[in-house]
Amino acid sequence: MTTVFIISAPSGSGKSTLVARLMDMVPRLHFSVSYTTRAPRGQEKSGESYHYIGREEFEAAIARDEFLEYAEVFGNYYGTHRSELDRAREQGADLVLDIDVQGARQLRSKFPDAVSIFILAPSREILEERLRARSEDSEQVIERRLREAAKEIRNYVAYDYIVVNREVGAAADTLAAIVKAERIRRCRMEDEVRPILASFEA
Ligand code: 5GP
Repeated sequence: MTTVFIISAPSGSGKSTLVARLMDMVPRLHFSVSYTTRAPRGQEKSGESYHYIGREEFEAAIARDEFLEYAEVFGNYYGTHRSELDRAREQGADLVLDIDVQGARQLRSKFPDAVSIFILAPSREILEERLRARSEDSEQVIERRLREAAKEIRNYVAYDYIVVNREVGAAADTLAAIVKAERIRRCRMEDEVRPILASFEA
C-alpha cells in the first residue's frame, strides 16, 4: 500500500531542503514532480524541480482530468499529475508531495488516509531573513510572500503534524521519524505480527 505524504509550508520555510534531506534519509519514497506554468528559477531544470509547461497546455491537461489536484499559487498554475501516484505504486514506494494548502485540501478529500505535515519557520523575522538571503525575489515579491505566509499559517490546524524548522538537521530528523512511525503504524497487522500471533495460538 502506498501512503501519501503531503508536505506544505509557506515559501522560505526551508521546505525544499528538508524534503531533499528526507528523500536521502528514508528509502522507498517517490518524490512527486509537479507541473507548473511558472518560469524556472536559477539552476532549476525541467523534470527535476518541476515540469515547466505553458498555460494552454496546463489548461488542456485540466480538461483531460490528468491532475490529482491543482491550484493557482502566486498567479501560476501548479498541479500533481496522476502518473506520479502510479509510479510510486509500481515502485512499491510511498509518495511525497510538496504542495500548497489548497492542493493539500483536495488530496485529503481524495485520500483520507494521507498524512499531512506543515513546516513552519520559527518566526516572521526568520522567514523574512531566509527569503532575503535567497535573493531570488524582488522586494515586492518578498512582501507578497510574507503576506501569503501569514494567511497560509492559519491553515496549520488541518495538518496531522507541525514541524518547526529551527535547525535543518533536527527538522529533517523529525520528518524522517514521522514517515517511519506512520509506516510502522500501517503495517502492524500484516507481515510481522501474524506469524507471532500464530506461534502463540499453536
Ligand atoms: P515555488 O514556486 O516557490 O516552487 O512554489 C510555490 C508554491 O506552490 C509552494 O507552496 C509549493 O508547495 C506549491 N506547489 C508546488 N507544486 C504544487 C502542486 O503540484 N500543487 C499545488 N497545489 N501546489 C504546489
